[in-house]
Amino acid sequence: MTDLRRRVPSTDAVLAEPAVAAAVAKLGRSLAKRAVHAAQQRVREGALAPQDIVPAVLAFLPSTATSLRPVLNATGVLLHTNLGRAPLSAAAIDALVSAAGTTDVELNVTTGARGERGSGTMAALLDAVPAAESVHIVNNGAAALALAATALSADKEIIIARGEMVEIGDGFRIPELITATGAHLREVGTTNRATLDDYRQAVGDATGFVLKVHPSNFVITGFTATVGVSELRTLDVPVVADIGSGLLKPNTALPHEPDAATTLGHGADLVTCSGDKLLGGPQAGLILGDRGLVQKLRRHPLARALRVDKLTLAALEATLIGPPAPTATALGADVDDLRRRAATLTSALVAHGVDARSVPLHRDDRRRQRSRRDP
Ligand SMILES: *Cc1c(COP(=O)(O)O)cnc(C)c1O
Repeated sequence: MTDLRRRVPSTDAVLAEPAVAAAVAKLGRSLAKRAVHAAQQRVREGALAPQDIVPAVLAFLPSTATSLRPVLNATGVLLHTNLGRAPLSAAAIDALVSAAGTTDVELNVTTGARGERGSGTMAALLDAVPAAESVHIVNNGAAALALAATALSADKEIIIARGEMVEIGDGFRIPELITATGAHLREVGTTNRATLDDYRQAVGDATGFVLKVHPSNFVITGFTATVGVSELRTLDVPVVADIGSGLLKPNTALPHEPDAATTLGHGADLVTCSGDKLLGGPQAGLILGDRGLVQKLRRHPLARALRVDKLTLAALEATLIGPPAPTATALGADVDDLRRRAATLTSALVAHGVDARSVPLHRDDRRRQRSRRDP
């Protein structure tokens, strides 16, 4: 034991090795020391020869000074919350890297005057959705909804259909978020049905706005009725539509997914959605619509607590004006192409002795497969 101890290279000696010193310069001393300690422990246990300690330390070090590691999303779920939702486009990554230093996020470098924060990103969003008079950008979809509820309906009622009181995931429930802002919920209809008359009877002096929520992750079928934005707009109170996914215009691959342009076209006063769902950008909450209402949200004190940083602004702008983001490309993927890729992967795995098969999961594929088996 004493003998082994004596043979363990000292921490300072290992840290002074040129390759390790370079890693200290890149990643910081604490990560490097952690790697050295782990390697020393292996030497003590006799699992590593003392002369091999430097390569072992280098192998133990992460490539960046973060515990977040890049992973392959092989789940088949395009936007996986546990895997960071949308992967950014190369253009968006370049933009956020370039904005990472000091940047002119709130300065007009020509005049030296203070510039409007995020004006380029907001202009890109307005360009993408001409139906919006004005836009505002916050931290995420939940923040967009919280800001709308606070600025437009504190101490007032938000009218919502019972079938739209949804839980999005990980315990995030829209009704709980709304009541946390101090707004009151006025539920109308039943789980499966709501009519315009239900809404009409609920509208009154206490109404802040009518909220239409897209049930992103479930469907109710059978004896159902919902009221669309084009009918809700006749109620003479603001209509806020939380469309969820951040689809800015219709996508033929997703015929049932609401988009911002169409929803505004139907008469919604405000649309709220996420930047890191179908838009394929960074985490952000997008608010689009009526100029006066957007201004009210932007000027509310809470807006400061929900504002996005320069990295988000940069990546979002590049997502909006740059080449299609990976999410958009994946949505348009050709099924035969995917099948070929799966077959290539399968044979590579089989060649390595892994029992692997490619099976269709796409609805059309399953149907095709069924009809093939059972004509
Ligand atoms: C995802 C989602 C939200 C929340 O958006 P985040 O960006 O995750 O905060 C709100 N409403 C709907 C309908 C959603 O689908």
